[in-house]
Amino acid sequence: MNIEDFIRDIPDFPKEGIVFKDITPLLLSPEALKETTSLLLKMVGNSKIDKVIGMESRGFFFATLLARELDAGFIPVRKPNKLPAKTISESYGLEYGSDILEIHEDAINEGDKILIHDDVLATGGTAEAVCKMVQRLGGEIIQCNFLIELTFLKGADKLKGYNLQSLIKY
Ligand code: AMP
Repeated sequence: MNIEDFIRDIPDFPKEGIVFKDITPLLLSPEALKETTSLLLKMVGNSKIDKVIGMESRGFFFATLLARELDAGFIPVRKPNKLPAKTISESYGLEYGSDILEIHEDAINEGDKILIHDDVLATGGTAEAVCKMVQRLGGEIIQCNFLIELTFLKGADKLKGYNLQSLIKY
């Protein structure tokens, strides 16, 4: 099975000039969903993981599935004013726009082994902001794990020093 067959390009979404990588066909197929989860797990290897972070919102899907398989907890990172309890935040630049991300301050304990997952690594601004928050809370980043990496946007440059793994590179 070729996972790439289940990812479709949507030109000019959410705005002109952006080619959006739509993973909904992949989520729709039971076989592709199972295969993708197992390939993402293989990238993690045998490292012990305490908690998996998923970025709002498309990072939530596989981050939760990975947490289940790794016997780990799941932590959502969200846009401002979505998380109900006390948060810390970081601002970041996006391929389209800029924003702020938040995480619950009590979600990470000192020394927690953290896996960060998102569907797409583009410019790396989102992942970099998440790494900063994890470090501020004392977590240990074991891997930054992506389904798709848009290599031409050079997100990897922002994640130097971290164990970066991507299943599909464009
Ligand atoms: P960045 O901070 O530039 O690495 O952007 C990554 C975030 O934006 C991820 O949460 C992605 O879901 C989303 N994103 C950025 N570019 C795309 C794209 N071309 N297709 C789908 N999602 C994207």
